[in-house]
Amino acid sequence: MGKIILTGDRPTGKLHLGHYVGSLKRRVELQNSGEYDEIYIMIADAQALTDNADNPDKVRNNIIEVALDYLSCGLDPAKSNIFIQSQVPELTELAFYYMNLVTVSRLQRNPTVKSEIQMRNFEASIPVGFFTYPISQASDITAFKATTVPVGEDQKPMIEQTVEIVRRFNSVYGEVLVEPEVLLPQNTACLRLPGTDGKAKMSKSLGNCIYLSDSAEEVRKKVMGMFTDPNHLKVSDPGKVEGNCVFTYLDAFSKPEHFAKYLPEYASLDELKEHYRCGGLGDVKCKKLLIAVLEEELAPIRARRREFEQNIEGVYEMLRKGSQVAQAKAARTLMEVKDAMRINYFQDKELIARQAEAYRECK
Ligand code: ATP
Ligand code: MG
Repeated sequence: MGKIILTGDRPTGKLHLGHYVGSLKRRVELQNSGEYDEIYIMIADAQALTDNADNPDKVRNNIIEVALDYLSCGLDPAKSNIFIQSQVPELTELAFYYMNLVTVSRLQRNPTVKSEIQMRNFEASIPVGFFTYPISQASDITAFKATTVPVGEDQKPMIEQTVEIVRRFNSVYGEVLVEPEVLLPQNTACLRLPGTDGKAKMSKSLGNCIYLSDSAEEVRKKVMGMFTDPNHLKVSDPGKVEGNCVFTYLDAFSKPEHFAKYLPEYASLDELKEHYRCGGLGDVKCKKLLIAVLEEELAPIRARRREFEQNIEGVYEMLRKGSQVAQAKAARTLMEVKDAMRINYFQDKELIARQAEAYRECK
């Protein structure tokens, strides 16, 4: 069995640092490791419509933004197949059959969906499509027979739901589907990067993001306004590092060599944290370090983006080709699924011959 990756993002905005550390950076490393036989990266427009049904232009206009962010981070269409979810209708058909294998109460227990419903103030008016998106995600993953799904921590319940569907399907209909494994970020700060406002998760929907395509000036302003320790008022005050975004971001992005380069008076991040805890270290100094560290990471991404922005037609052509390849693979899986579920009437010549024979004998 080959090693296959499936992952993706919703085109509800440009991609931000949370996407980058949660999944995107890892995808590029996995892509370049040469260890994977097939890689599928999906722009999940159909899923984005589940909570943006009345705003289709938002979804439509962000497809190109997500594709540009992918390319500028180093996803290479020669190695990774980038496609648009809605252009692979087989995925919806699979989801329809999987719906029979999941209960409403199981969906209600999904902690990510629960908190997203709260965040969106859906209360009693949850769109059915949104409520069932974990099932749709199971079809995205299984259609490609993905073995590995690199995502942020919030997606863990979706992979668990997928594994349950795979087990249920295989036990009822026979071994067709492949159980995927979730691949979470190794660095704990990257599991769920907080927003610049200190909220639990940087998220497009919360408006607390630093985008990969933000200018150096925008990044500077956002970092300078970032949530730190509200009780650290004077430089001399002892400060808290836990829950302080500046330190969480330094955990996620800084490397040992950054200290020699930008703050040679500290040997490591641990020393900087220790000084902050004791008092005598101001937020501005830490924020300036973070700005420099982020700029090292973001400047090359920004420069590559500007190049791809000059060839929008080429990017759409890449997506069109990627969607064709994805459709061919999903169609093969759907055929196997329908065979196993015995809804392959016209392909099953034996069925037709047997029933015809039975009726002839009855005469
Ligand atoms: P939306 O608010 O529209 O749901 P989002 O910002 O949550 O958008 P998604 O498209 O839902 O982004 O997530 C895409 C991928 O990025 C997923 O693998 C998710 O786990 C990861 N991800 C998103 N935000 C973060 C974050 N703050 N930290 C780590 N990973 C993240
Ligand atoms: Mg999300």
